[in-house]
Amino acid sequence: MECRICGERNAIKLGSVSTYCDYNVEILQCPDCGSRFAPYKEEVYEFLHATANSTYEPHKALARAVSDAFRNGDCDSIRRLLIGVPKYRYVIENIEKMPLQCKILEVGCSSGYLTAYFNSIGFNATGMDVSSSAIADARSQFGEHYCTLDEWKVFSGPKYEVVVLVGTIGCVEDPVGLLNDLSEQLSESGVILMNAPNRNFADRMGVNHVWPFTTSPPDLITAFAPEFWSMMFSDDFDVETQASFSPARNAVVAGLLEKWNIYRIRKLVNSSKLRWRLFKAMRLVVTAFAALKYSKVMTDIPAEYGLYVKMTRKSEHGRENYV
Ligand SMILES: [Zn+2]
Repeated sequence: MECRICGERNAIKLGSVSTYCDYNVEILQCPDCGSRFAPYKEEVYEFLHATANSTYEPHKALARAVSDAFRNGDCDSIRRLLIGVPKYRYVIENIEKMPLQCKILEVGCSSGYLTAYFNSIGFNATGMDVSSSAIADARSQFGEHYCTLDEWKVFSGPKYEVVVLVGTIGCVEDPVGLLNDLSEQLSESGVILMNAPNRNFADRMGVNHVWPFTTSPPDLITAFAPEFWSMMFSDDFDVETQASFSPARNAVVAGLLEKWNIYRIRKLVNSSKLRWRLFKAMRLVVTAFAALKYSKVMTDIPAEYGLYVKMTRKSEHGRENYV
């Protein structure tokens, strides 16, 4: 079958997973580019943003916390809130080393808090998202630094020194095409910073877990091999990829949630008195596996969203220098 990511025709079906929204999807793996993936469903994104049980909800909670700090002009609190999340920490620590004149584009900005942080410390940052309801949220909380994909296409202005994708690249239909399009918007020697789902996390979770990630299709649809980025982009970019690792107990809990179907659990917890009993059961499981971990029976495993990628456009690349 054809690989949605690299276009080769050797992709192998690994199995299928049932997710919320009554989706039952096939999971495939490509031996050529190493990606593990599900089909893309265009119609779901607006629905996900508007659905209380979707994985976008934690984003909204974080956005509200950041929004409070933003109204008080409290950059330190915004930073503290965001930097507790490893994928934001990676991007923030890289961007804080850059000069304030850098123009930043955040692709897939959701409710806009990361872009808001960069603007609050003096950068010129724009957040873009396919979801018009996410952009409306972002504007209402953080000002006019946001646009939908359609608006952005119309108003494309000066090029960007930095393009940021946090929690985005695993959710799009054509990750390679998107990055190629974005590289057209980069200034000479511009940088793309992103995190990506690590396919090695899935491998470490065992053969029965075709999709062990805490986010399921149709939200998350691609996990990448660590070598994918240099394989696909090293002609045009200097590519640096880091894979981070997390304690095994985190992955075990993630695996169990996947096995039990996290979305059904979330609905149960939200709607019944099972919350406390479930919490106690989870705590017992976590403690048991933490004990195993500390007895060194289990080793650390790749963090599921912990592929950190920095792609710097090669200066000899034969494109017009816009800046
Ligand atoms: Zn492929």
